[in-house]
Amino acid sequence: MKSFDVLIIGAGITGITAASILAREKNLRVLIDEKRTHIGGNCYDCINKDGLLIHLYGPHIFHTQHKSVWDYLSQFTNWIDYIHHVKAFVDKKHISFPININTFEQLFNKTFTRNDVISYLEKEKIDLLKIENAEDMVISRMGKTIYNKFFKNYTRKQWGMDARQLAPEITARIPIRFNRDDTFFTDPYQGIPENGYTAMFKRMLDHPNIKLITGKTFQDIQKTINFKALIFTGPIDEFFNYQNGALPYRGIHFDFKTYDQEYYLPVAVVNYPNDHEYTRATEFKHMTQQKHPKTSLCYEYPADSGSDQVSPLPSYPILTPESICRYKAYQDAAHQLTDTLFMGRLGKFQYLNMDICVKQVMDELNAF
Ligand code: UDP
Repeated sequence: MKSFDVLIIGAGITGITAASILAREKNLRVLIDEKRTHIGGNCYDCINKDGLLIHLYGPHIFHTQHKSVWDYLSQFTNWIDYIHHVKAFVDKKHISFPININTFEQLFNKTFTRNDVISYLEKEKIDLLKIENAEDMVISRMGKTIYNKFFKNYTRKQWGMDARQLAPEITARIPIRFNRDDTFFTDPYQGIPENGYTAMFKRMLDHPNIKLITGKTFQDIQKTINFKALIFTGPIDEFFNYQNGALPYRGIHFDFKTYDQEYYLPVAVVNYPNDHEYTRATEFKHMTQQKHPKTSLCYEYPADSGSDQVSPLPSYPILTPESICRYKAYQDAAHQLTDTLFMGRLGKFQYLNMDICVKQVMDELNAF
């Protein structure tokens, strides 16, 4: 039987960062096990049959305010200097998103100053004593007109439920700006790994203390190895055999299309709140800056994730008051275990961006 200091389940950004830190900084022997046949989790990217670099699980744009996170990953990659732009397709127009002064001008076909936007919102926004859900979060800042045009139907498609059933933090991710800044993120560090995420992850795993297994589940390998500690980045409810009931996850079906033209969309991502069954379309070349006569897009069709063959893999924890409460029961069970850490979006049942996955690992493992 092979022995390791730490077994890590899941080779997504969380598991890979954990392996890298434990192997390099703590000099521990790590086995990282991934049930899919590739590393990188949902950040995985690859070259399609036309030679175009695509993100197989939808657009991933790295952005962070944490210099420590940026510096850590920069040991393993250079970055394409990409600043993300998104348009929302509303009223048959590609409109600036997130909401800023340009959005109002494009929506209402007249000029707006900063003060015009402030007085529009003063009239439209709904004062609430308590922000209880994802709809409240938007209407209290932007009012019903903006909510109905940009958020209501997108949220229903994305989550399969009404924004009133979802936690406020979901729509709190989207800011409102009182200037003309229509870049999607404001973080000081932004970019796309120069040779892709998968290449960056391969370098992170390239260390004599790290052994990688792909295509095998935790159950497959569990009894064949010895380990002193476990880091589990899969769904926490699955780990505990659903003893407190299943936690809900949203997944996405991705439909890829290659077009025989150099560019197709005005920006990397177009959101379709009110048209089509898909939520958004991504044209990767805007992000990867690849030179190629063709272009590849992906269209996202959200669906509930499940363990059957046809359901998509879990991508997003569905945060409702009930699911958060159910997760707390799992968290309590997790606290009873020694030498076992639950990490990442699925291990912590949190809507984490990539940088926060890395940050949490750095913070928690430094105390390990
Ligand atoms: N959202 C929306 N309309 C949009 C974009 C976002 O209603 O055009 C809401 C929706 O509920 C979504 C949430 O804001 O799930 C967060 O959006 P974000 O773009 O951060 O989602 P992600 O990139 O994580 O899928």
